[in-house]
Amino acid sequence: MARYRAAVCRLCRREGGKLFLKGDKCFKSNCTIEKRGTQPPGMHGATARRKVLAGYGQQLREKQKVKRIYFVLEKQFRNYFEKASRQKGITGENLLFLLERRLDNVVYRAGFSTSRRQARQLVNHGHIEVNGRKVDIPSFQVKVGDAVTVKDNTAKNVHVEGAWQTAVGRGRPNWISSTGGEALSVSVSALPTRQDVDANINEQLIVELYSK
Ligand code: SF4
Repeated sequence: MARYRAAVCRLCRREGGKLFLKGDKCFKSNCTIEKRGTQPPGMHGATARRKVLAGYGQQLREKQKVKRIYFVLEKQFRNYFEKASRQKGITGENLLFLLERRLDNVVYRAGFSTSRRQARQLVNHGHIEVNGRKVDIPSFQVKVGDAVTVKDNTAKNVHVEGAWQTAVGRGRPNWISSTGGEALSVSVSALPTRQDVDANINEQLIVELYSK
């Protein structure tokens, strides 16, 4: 599968704001956006003026932003949209809920990793179990009642332990609750709601883009 391999901070600068793609660094003063502001990437970024977007341009940027936050490529994102539009309810919200329920996102939200990229690696490399069985598919959709656990050996990894401690301080969304035992484990206690998803996303723009 194709992967984005370039510097991810460029993506934040392209979208003109923090997308929180790099773990702890995103919360520190050495975050690229904190240091250099929201100037566009590239050698002419410092002198380039950011265009005021409207209509198609605005819709396109919003779609790109959400794709980049969740690290999903175009075809898969489009598939999520098609699925969301077939579901009952508001299509834009359905789309966000499908993205939130991805296993790699749950691993990140639970606090087993400091970024979604790191979470995807944990899943891909077989370090995550759902209901006691290894699941190595990042797009796996969790459902209410699922228990998501880091394998015992991996739980002792300093990066995973560090991420877990950070998440305790930062808090978890209401729909994911810690099971409270020794193991690094959470349960999906409810489905996500719109309040649980980044408020800085205007999903209606994505619906308008794909509805053309
Ligand atoms: Fe974006 Fe994080 Fe890089 Fe800051 S450190 S620019 S929030 S990816």
